[in-house]
Amino acid sequence: MTSIGIVGSGVSGLHLGLHLRAQDLPVTIYANKTPEQIAEGRIPGSIAHMHPTRAIEKELGIDHWRAEDIEYIRHWHYNGWGDDRTFYGDFAEPAGVVDYRIYLPRLMRDFTDRGGSIEYREFSREFIEGLTEHHDLVVVAVGKGDLAGIFPKRPEHSPYDAPQRRLAVGLWKGVRHREPNGVEVNIVPGVGELLAIPIYSFSGRVHALLFESLPDGPQAVLADQKYEDDPAAYREATIRILDEFYPTMVERLDRDAFALQDDRAILQGAVTPVMREDFVELPGGKFLLAMGDAHMTVDPVQAQGANSGVYSAKVIADTIRTDRVFDRRFFEKVAMRRRERLESATDWVNTVIRPGGAEQMGLLFSEMVHNQALTDRFTENFSDPVRQYDLIGSIARVEAAIAETAGA
Ligand SMILES: Cc1cc2nc3c(=O)[nH]c(=O)nc-3n(C[C@H](O)[C@H](O)[C@H](O)COP(=O)(O)OP(=O)(O)OC[C@H]3O[C@@H](n4cnc5c(N)ncnc54)[C@H](O)[C@@H]3O)c2cc1C
Repeated sequence: MTSIGIVGSGVSGLHLGLHLRAQDLPVTIYANKTPEQIAEGRIPGSIAHMHPTRAIEKELGIDHWRAEDIEYIRHWHYNGWGDDRTFYGDFAEPAGVVDYRIYLPRLMRDFTDRGGSIEYREFSREFIEGLTEHHDLVVVAVGKGDLAGIFPKRPEHSPYDAPQRRLAVGLWKGVRHREPNGVEVNIVPGVGELLAIPIYSFSGRVHALLFESLPDGPQAVLADQKYEDDPAAYREATIRILDEFYPTMVERLDRDAFALQDDRAILQGAVTPVMREDFVELPGGKFLLAMGDAHMTVDPVQAQGANSGVYSAKVIADTIRTDRVFDRRFFEKVAMRRRERLESATDWVNTVIRPGGAEQMGLLFSEMVHNQALTDRFTENFSDPVRQYDLIGSIARVEAAIAETAGA
């Protein structure tokens, strides 16, 4: 019977494993961290699942969390320019956010409960290539680290050689909720973005403050000043940035209660966006298939990485359902089927983070302040990267959307 090996136990690897167990296929996931180690470890991000991802979770029977704990429906906006600065847009269906230190261990348990096998070990490129001797198909979902270099970069969808934002995200108590629940999207020219994301974690619902900082801007200190060196000083630096640049967030701040949820609820760093080839052929004629961040790494500012990985896992599982011959044709089919959505997601996010700001984004955000139909469309399109890139792909497209929605 067809045996499948999945290297990496992040959201992409686990989703694929669960799809394949639903097809009753023998699957081994290769992982380097146990569920306990993930639960006790550092947050890997603050990861919002859009409603198409949540529909897949429902189909897989892994929608374990209560709607009132995890859902949000709105993007609350603050533009750091112009006279009118606050506005909002609504999703057609709610998104959801669960701390991955809770989410991933639960999915690992689901996977083994359903007959999947997890083998724990560190792996190298040689190990991964060697797996093609033991499995009919090997899918590589090792995340954005060095091992992803197995797959050559696609320059036409990889415009940057360095991160365009410095990142810092922490899960904070002491930020008041907004009604209805939503992600607050703050954009301040010369500084960067701040996303305030309601997230379900160990103490219930808290807020992930994701600071996306221009590398030379005043906010980058939150990525560069190490939290561990002096937690109190880091907290003070966070409050100072909020006071200086984010008035609508300051209104929500309960200073006495403002504290990191736990010492591991913080991540600092940066991401270089890259899109890689879908697959490689090894010298012996076997293939490796890329999935998730190993295939496509995007800056987190538009919440597309995990949603794209989940989409990719479903495409691969659907292709395996009908095709059990893992020749070049199989890998080309997977590539064709996921191309439009993944390329749109990567090109959209890369447009948003363009140095100096893409002209059409300034136009779009200035218009959205007083155009509800446009803001709702932009918001809902976080669930549909193809439609989003159709909207923001060029200045002519934004102008056309404005003409269509103005006065709607
Ligand atoms: C701050 C932040 C916020 C984000 N917000 C969002 C969001 O709102 N929405 C969204 O969709 N995405 C978001 N993302 C992106 C999202 O987190 C990633 O796209 C997604 O988690 C990638 O999943 P993956 O399974 O492809 O890879 P990973 O989760 O990175 O999994 C890779 C696995 O491989 C293992 N591994 C790697 N190398 C080795 C090795 N040598 N030996 C053994 N094991 C190894 C790792 O331990 C890991 O388990 C965010 C990211 C960040 C940083």
